[in-house]
Amino acid sequence: MRFAIKQVSCGSERIGTLTGFFKSPSTVIETPTAALLTQGGSVSHLTAEVLSKVFTTPQLLWVPVSNSLQLEPGMRAQGQGVAKFCGLPEQLVCVTSHNMSEPTPPGHFELEKVPLWTKNGKKMVSAERYMDLMEVYKPEIILAIADGRTSLNEGYKRILKSLDRTCNMLDTCVYRYKASKKLKESALIGVVVATGMPKKSNESIKHVLTHKDTLTGVALAGVTDAYEESDILAAQKLGDIFKTVGDALPKDLLRVVEGCWNPAIIVAAIEHGWDLFDGSYPAKLSNAGHVLTLNFDPDRLSYEPCVLDLNDERYKEDFTPVLEGCECLTCKKHTRAYIRHLLNTREMLSSVLLSIHNLHHFDQLFRHARQHIAANTFQKYKKHITKQYEAYNLPHSANGVTDVKTDISMNGTEYMKKRLRVSDDEIPTSQVVNGSL
Ligand SMILES: [Zn+2]
Repeated sequence: MRFAIKQVSCGSERIGTLTGFFKSPSTVIETPTAALLTQGGSVSHLTAEVLSKVFTTPQLLWVPVSNSLQLEPGMRAQGQGVAKFCGLPEQLVCVTSHNMSEPTPPGHFELEKVPLWTKNGKKMVSAERYMDLMEVYKPEIILAIADGRTSLNEGYKRILKSLDRTCNMLDTCVYRYKASKKLKESALIGVVVATGMPKKSNESIKHVLTHKDTLTGVALAGVTDAYEESDILAAQKLGDIFKTVGDALPKDLLRVVEGCWNPAIIVAAIEHGWDLFDGSYPAKLSNAGHVLTLNFDPDRLSYEPCVLDLNDERYKEDFTPVLEGCECLTCKKHTRAYIRHLLNTREMLSSVLLSIHNLHHFDQLFRHARQHIAANTFQKYKKHITKQYEAYNLPHSANGVTDVKTDISMNGTEYMKKRLRVSDDEIPTSQVVNGSL
């Protein structure tokens, strides 16, 4: 697989392409983009048929070993890799050790081994064992195994261990990768850790770059142990990290960010040239019964919340689609009230419909980002997305509005207007469509 930069904007944001996939030579994946998070090798709640209706071209699947290790005997016996074994032969695969968005018990490390919390309990995995597994998974992209599950507030000793262990494991991964005939069609990505401590993070970057000629890209770890809240303060801190690490990397390497980041943080990363995200955010929303309803048009002010909780009683008699104008299969046929009913009665179809909309809408976030980078208007787009999240994340007690969320008689627009403290007079008349905003 190859990564090439297609267009650089006036800032650091860029459009790139992933091409040269052995099993799918004509496929071009444009970046920035997100992979589709998988559980046990499948995109959660979607069969291969439904997935092919949501995305008509091959997608990049994000496959953590921690939630798919149980497939090893079957994959080994079949010998054709994880995508084929899971009935998704045309999809492309990026394998990583952990799902960074899942909380796991801290500690449990041993010398040069990392604990993976699998379906069958804790498994200690060395770099040698990990690369053995890669020969069985046969992915298009391999993220080297790393001890990267550390938070931004991690203690010094833990960071030192994380750095030391990750450097040693990367050396083994590179050695095994170069020596393996079975991995000639895969691309290897080095992992930068210790990102909360600039000095140590520099050491990690330097070490990764000693293997620059072998690596296709660099992934950023060490920013989440999945317990952190991605609030506005974290967004500022993360923005600085995306810039510092991004500036220290050669421009021709693919840049990957792991973790469950909301769109405000994602656009901050894109601004500093980060290309590929792990796609766990829409999966998390779907599992909670939430839907993403961002407004992508910077020329149109939005007073709708950018995330709706469809468990809420306020949607009981809301017979509008999840998002007016959305082209996804869910929005074309179903209403908020129906999905709320499915959630309320614990029907599995609710997860399917939520996943279809959230995956489609999350993909649109990146599609619009690429269009704005191409048109040199990315800054405007970034501000527009960030503003929607800042409004959504306002503390409930801010500005004297204390119980907005509990008033179920309000619709989403009224709720957002109250949070933003705007009156009807302030809303441009051009936005009034069918009596609503
Ligand atoms: Zn939709």
